[in-house]
Amino acid sequence: MDSVLHTTGRFGPRTLVITAAAVPLTGWAVHAVALHKQLAATRKDPLTGLLRRDSYTARARQLLARHGDKVTVVMVDADKFKAINDSLGHEAGDTVLASIAARLTAWAGPRAAIGRLGGDEFAVVLELAADRRTQRLEQLVRMLHTPVVLDGGRTVDVAASVGAATPGVLGTRDLTLLQRAADAALYDGKHSGRAVLATRQHVTVPSINGRRAGRPGTAVWGRAA
Ligand code: GH3
Ligand code: MG
Repeated sequence: MDSVLHTTGRFGPRTLVITAAAVPLTGWAVHAVALHKQLAATRKDPLTGLLRRDSYTARARQLLARHGDKVTVVMVDADKFKAINDSLGHEAGDTVLASIAARLTAWAGPRAAIGRLGGDEFAVVLELAADRRTQRLEQLVRMLHTPVVLDGGRTVDVAASVGAATPGVLGTRDLTLLQRAADAALYDGKHSGRAVLATRQHVTVPSINGRRAGRPGTAVWGRAA
């Protein structure tokens, strides 16, 4: 303010009024940006930077409503993740979770909805061309099976299971049903190193101890050698 008050020449009283008004406005703008950042942070999981379940669900529903049949719903669960925590410690487990998130983000691109649903479980909703779906899911499986380098330089072997569901195959754009089917497909291929695409049967697969029973005749894609 001091520099403004001493200004002479072509800066008159009007300038002073505008400047005086701009100061609180700038203050509010800074405040609004800070609030916006805080709000964005509450939508995200602090460990991985991915969307939390609620925000992911809202974005995923938006994508399904807008792009419907072009969209694929993908569920991911780390394999034998407890063993990493037990053998290398919780911090190493955290690094692995963050790596999975980074890989999902790199794979799915900026327009996708990517969420950490809890623990070592993740979900992605993205547009995938039908003729490239198999290839892209294989690529994701390969990425998720790439060893993770920990902070101290030590390398840890990792793996994750992948299930996918599409409105085209299941005849619905309902996110809950698509996720349920993708989750059932994931457990069909659990620990197999192969992504599984859900069929209509997967929507009604009964749960066993929270895990889904397998189904015969399912399309699976393995990792490339
Ligand atoms: P499976 O191969 O059948 O998927 O079993 P799993 O060992 O991967 O274990 P499961 O998926 O059943 O459980 C996930 C574990 O993840 C349970 C919990 O101890 C651990 N976990 C959950 N949240 C966090 C976290 O934020 N950080 C770390 N390091 N571990 C977590
Ligand atoms: Mg797991």
